[in-house]
Amino acid sequence: MAYAALDFYGIDELYTHEERMVRDTVRELVTSRVMPSIGKHWSAGTFPHELVAVFGEMGLLGPSLTGYGCAGISPTAYGLICQELERGDSGIRSFASVQSSLVMYPIWAFGSEAQKQKYLPEMAAGRAIGCFGLTEPDFGSNPTGMLTTAKKTAGGYVLNGTKRWITNGSVAHVALVWAKLEGKVHGFLVPTKSKGFTARDIHGKWSLRASVTSELIMEDCEVGEDALLPGVAGMRGPLSCLSQARFGICYGAIGAAMACYDEALSYAKDRVQFSKPIAGYQLVQRKLVDMVSEITKAQLLCLRMGRLKESDKLSPAQISLAKRNNVAMARDIARDARDILGANGVTDEYQCGRHMLNLESVYTYEGTHDIHTLVVGQEITGLAAFDS
Ligand SMILES: Cc1cc2nc3c(=O)[nH]c(=O)nc-3n(C[C@H](O)[C@H](O)[C@H](O)COP(=O)(O)OP(=O)(O)OC[C@H]3O[C@@H](n4cnc5c(N)ncnc54)[C@H](O)[C@@H]3O)c2cc1C
Repeated sequence: MAYAALDFYGIDELYTHEERMVRDTVRELVTSRVMPSIGKHWSAGTFPHELVAVFGEMGLLGPSLTGYGCAGISPTAYGLICQELERGDSGIRSFASVQSSLVMYPIWAFGSEAQKQKYLPEMAAGRAIGCFGLTEPDFGSNPTGMLTTAKKTAGGYVLNGTKRWITNGSVAHVALVWAKLEGKVHGFLVPTKSKGFTARDIHGKWSLRASVTSELIMEDCEVGEDALLPGVAGMRGPLSCLSQARFGICYGAIGAAMACYDEALSYAKDRVQFSKPIAGYQLVQRKLVDMVSEITKAQLLCLRMGRLKESDKLSPAQISLAKRNNVAMARDIARDARDILGANGVTDEYQCGRHMLNLESVYTYEGTHDIHTLVVGQEITGLAAFDS
């Protein structure tokens, strides 16, 4: 059954021609290259590595950055890429978010000219992969407490520490590791071939199974002077990258929700119980209408968010509100879609169960749902409910 993307309020006409073109191209790519094999990859717990070069060729990596082989499209177009990729699978979108927003963006924004020349064209083409090491085994929601350290040596720096839950970790060529140098957080571009650097995959996940998640271990890991990101110090560095990535996640969640709604609607129209298709029963219609209502609100929120970003007016708290709303919305819709599919919803023959499990990770990473609640709470009351 062909995918029918929900657009109940004609939001399409509010996008530019370029934004629609980018979205439609990625939509077609997901239909032809992701959908046929994603279920198998997810079940096997493998990352579809073959897509990386394709994304590079199509300009989907670091797409809103300018120069260095990047496409320079609008933030809204970048968001729509995330939406379409996550229609396929949250793990595929996670790969692209990490590459584009968490590694290429900080190199572009805070890197030296030599670092930009070295990494950005290779990463834009998909010939080099990056990962972003912020979280540690004992510091998730509170990364400020990180224990990873960097010490200055005669020829560069030596890093010690462990990062956990790192997307792309073992397939990355370069790890952007956040570490404390003389007590202050700095970013280091660590080639993953460096002596003293090890990446070990985390197995047994029942979420984001088509994405690589690893632990990074640095034991007297030596890097050169040129590893330090010179343009930023303190938590502003990692937090500004997370703002970029969360922006894309807000759109991505809509893609997963649209996929689940589409599947639930077509299933409900086909599935006959008692005297008619289940889509004809009021309780099922209510679930479908709730989905349309929530997806439409999330689409409008993202449209406004994109336009605010384009005029440089978007605040971190506004991104937090959209991440919190849209991911929770998608998670609820995936569950309701699974319910509408009855027993079939628990098999890998259908996609809503895969999205439902993936969205548990999306709900937790890039700031948990509750941490974003506290960020917005602080914004509106002026009172922080957590230690900052
Ligand atoms: C699949 C996957 C991929 C990931 N990829 C990356 C990556 O590429 N790079 C990276 O650096 N990290 C990554 N992460 C880590 C992710 O960002 C963290 O899991 C997240 O920040 C939450 O940290 P935690 O798991 O330690 O949970 P905790 O911080 O221990 O939180 C546990 C619970 O406590 C709640 N909580 C914590 N503090 C408070 C408070 N003050 N008030 C109220 N409630 C609170 C949280 O909301 C949550 O419900 C990934 C995680 C997953 C699952």
